[in-house]
Amino acid sequence: MSEEYVPIRQEHLDALCPELSLVVADAIAAGNRVSETWDSFGHGVLLRHPRPVLVNVPPQTRSALTYRAIDDPHYWLGEIWCSLHPGWFVALPFTAGARDLPSLRLPDFRWGPPTSRRRLLRAVLRLGRR
Ligand SMILES: [Zn+2]
Repeated sequence: MSEEYVPIRQEHLDALCPELSLVVADAIAAGNRVSETWDSFGHGVLLRHPRPVLVNVPPQTRSALTYRAIDDPHYWLGEIWCSLHPGWFVALPFTAGARDLPSLRLPDFRWGPPTSRRRLLRAVLRLGRR
């Protein structure tokens, strides 16, 4: 049985954390849309246009977001990550001239945000005590 390629899967959108769900819903409300989702080679939701995005996202949600610049025409412009829930990201498509766009004034993405690193360390310590 061959599986048909479906560019947008509802289960992928459902897997987004509340913060990234809000980023996608906000972009759609502002006239953007989702063009692709995937869960292999990373877990991503690609928007159709690099803007509009983060139009009406409340500060408490925004403060959890980070931006990772990719700037590669073979991939995309950049990724919006949630520092509270690593796993998925929202990708902004690369478009000609898009390199000049600002990084949405979000802090730079770093691998292993402090919260998850601390959580991981606690888990390792717990295992060591067994
Ligand atoms: Zn989140």
